[in-house]
Amino acid sequence: MSAPNGGPERLVAPKRAEEDSAELALRPQALDDFIGQKQVRENLKIFIAAARARGEALDHVLFHGPPGLGKTTLAQIVAREMGVGFRATSGPVIQKAGDLAAQLTNLQPRDVLFIDEIHRLNPAIEEILYPAMEDFQLDLMIGEGPAARSVRIDLPPFTLVGATTRSGLMTRPLRERFGIPLRLMFYEPAELETIVERAARVLQMTMAKDGAAEIAKRSRGTPRVANRLLRRVRDFAAVGGDAAVDARVADAALHRLEVDARGLDPMDRRYLSCIAENYGGGPVGADTLAAALSEQRDVIEDVIEPYLMQLGLLMRTPRGRLLSEAGYRHLGVAMPKGQQRQLDLLSGDPDVIPSEARDL
Ligand code: ADP
Repeated sequence: MSAPNGGPERLVAPKRAEEDSAELALRPQALDDFIGQKQVRENLKIFIAAARARGEALDHVLFHGPPGLGKTTLAQIVAREMGVGFRATSGPVIQKAGDLAAQLTNLQPRDVLFIDEIHRLNPAIEEILYPAMEDFQLDLMIGEGPAARSVRIDLPPFTLVGATTRSGLMTRPLRERFGIPLRLMFYEPAELETIVERAARVLQMTMAKDGAAEIAKRSRGTPRVANRLLRRVRDFAAVGGDAAVDARVADAALHRLEVDARGLDPMDRRYLSCIAENYGGGPVGADTLAAALSEQRDVIEDVIEPYLMQLGLLMRTPRGRLLSEAGYRHLGVAMPKGQQRQLDLLSGDPDVIPSEARDL
């Protein structure tokens, strides 16, 4: 499979690729099997128990966070724990009002409708979604021109579960209609280690503790990446005749895959070097970088940057992207003298958005 820009698919890309049908077997099925995101889990548990006790549909839930952190998995778990049906679609797939109406009218009472990439929903469709979410009513226009008339259809009470990598791109009225907004964070290495160990068991691999730790450390805080790296390491181990995967085997495989000690791949390094070498460390705008790297702006903002910011290698400011001193260190390059001043200036700038509040 190739990336949108025609280059090879990134191994550490947290977005879903076709081979990830293997993900199905690795998906946790219950809230108690879901590792990490403690606060999200605890909140969901309470809201689900309360809704079940009242015999009502769960309030609408919005999962927000970078790709591959478990939004789809949690949506399925919500349906299973509520003991209701699950239907899934995504923002860009719903083109016409009729597409959404077909999904909504097929729901059974209390079912979950999952809309992935909900920030990419067409605004006209959003308008139809508001009364559906609020009053479980669907207002549709039938026919065209003078003969057009509006019909109102009652819907069963249902739960809309939305997932987005960019809640900042959602309109406020849509965002506000979700009673339960939940933000997913990058996983801690210890949590990823448990995820890798569990996946290794499912894949019937012999995994040493230090092997799981090595893969976890280099997985960009993302379970999807951890599972993918695990499968590639398994291939290297099988071909190399290694019976068990320990830190040495994992490190050798990940080194061959060009995933460095902190989980950065050639694309991440190309991104960092581009800012350092072509733009003097920044600030440089996202569009300029996208053009320089022949990459889509979305991919840069949703996939590449969040993890680099999490590691403190990069700062995103209203004036553009800036490489931090740690970013230079990661590249093995000394930071130019004047650059520290830029960093101090912009990080003291009240307009600088702290990474936490970034796209809320
Ligand atoms: P998203 O919808 O946020 O892009 P997914 O829910 O599709 O992410 O998760 C990607 C993969 O990562 C799934 O196949 C699942 O196996 C794995 N995964 C995600 N979160 C967890 C977790 N907390 N524990 C174990 N595996 C997880």
